[in-house]
Amino acid sequence: MFLDVNLKNIAMDRSLVDLRDEAPSMWSVVQRESEKPVTARRESWVDLNLTYGVCPQCRHRTNLTEGTASAPCSNCGGTFPIDWVHPC
Ligand SMILES: [Zn+2]
Repeated sequence: MFLDVNLKNIAMDRSLVDLRDEAPSMWSVVQRESEKPVTARRESWVDLNLTYGVCPQCRHRTNLTEGTASAPCSNCGGTFPIDWVHPC
């Protein structure tokens, strides 16, 4: 299958993609590897830690405090629980 990532078609093995019928209702937790070079694609991503969250409503990225059950989004104003159990 192909994914549209920043207007580029990226080939991806179907077994690696988890498709859902519903939009997420929780912050998605992203864990980056420390050895990989990190290139921020947006200025707002420059200060992100190796572990950060993606807002379920507006996809805004922000640093999360580990152990916190929920967090507010400074972009859309919503407050959502954090999915620490299924990191990306
Ligand atoms: Zn948001």
